[in-house]
Amino acid sequence: MINIRHVGTAPDYTKKDFDAAPVRMYAALHEAQVDLAHVDRITTIGRLTASVAPEVTQPIAAIVTNAQAARHFLNRRPPDLDEVREALDCIVTEAYRASDAIYRIRGLFKETPPKRERVEINGAIRDVLELTRGEATKNGISVRTQFAEPSPVVQADPAQLQQVTLNLIINAFEAMISRREGSRELLICTEKSDNGALVAVRDSGPGLDLETVDRLFEAFYTTKVQGMGIGLAICRSIIQVHGGRLWARANVPCGAIFQFTLPTHRPEQS
Ligand code: ADP
Repeated sequence: MINIRHVGTAPDYTKKDFDAAPVRMYAALHEAQVDLAHVDRITTIGRLTASVAPEVTQPIAAIVTNAQAARHFLNRRPPDLDEVREALDCIVTEAYRASDAIYRIRGLFKETPPKRERVEINGAIRDVLELTRGEATKNGISVRTQFAEPSPVVQADPAQLQQVTLNLIINAFEAMISRREGSRELLICTEKSDNGALVAVRDSGPGLDLETVDRLFEAFYTTKVQGMGIGLAICRSIIQVHGGRLWARANVPCGAIFQFTLPTHRPEQS
């Protein structure tokens, strides 16, 4: 940063300082955007923490129960080895479940340099849905998917793609929860588009005011008491940097649709 000195001290800027200033400002801005995106990611996960915890605690509880059962069957005279084997199989399955959940959660927290790689979009969305399953159940939200098969393959940073999807899903949940009446239905669709893939997140919430819909993507615009208003601004900038587009429109008969496009994977650019 350029050091601004007080009057009285002889300034010693050179032309080179001024020429380099826009580059440094751009770099600082980029750094601030990356930091803000990370804050948004942590905040979004924070909104999920209570319902993500059971993803880890439930398998651990099942492991303990099965281990106690195995000990009990071993103590029988003669030991019931079939039951012991069954309990051990359960322990292995549940341990994998817990470690998968931790792996997914860690993936979202990790701060890694942006990448571009081959991502099967259906699988990436399924992972996010796994994380939000508890929140959906707790709030009586039915979640359906309508995926193009085989999965569209896009060129993306997997963590950023999941951040965008998670943001849109949490926003849809919050919108539907805020509408006290009516069914709560989330539908996520993927389809192949001309140059890549289209993802649509459709909810049955209160919907959008179409006159001000573009304001939703402005930084710090929020209608929520606890909202920060940066989620959609960051999602749009992530998608744009990928060469895609993110926009919103009305759902029928009610609710909102947030959809984005991403370009097809090109192996030579990975
Ligand atoms: P925040 O969630 O912190 O408010 P966002 O940038 O994610 O920040 O969202 C900005 C605003 O867009 C929200 O406060 C809400 O008014 C509106 N919004 C986002 N998603 C939806 C949705 N699915 N349905 C209706 N309004 C929405």
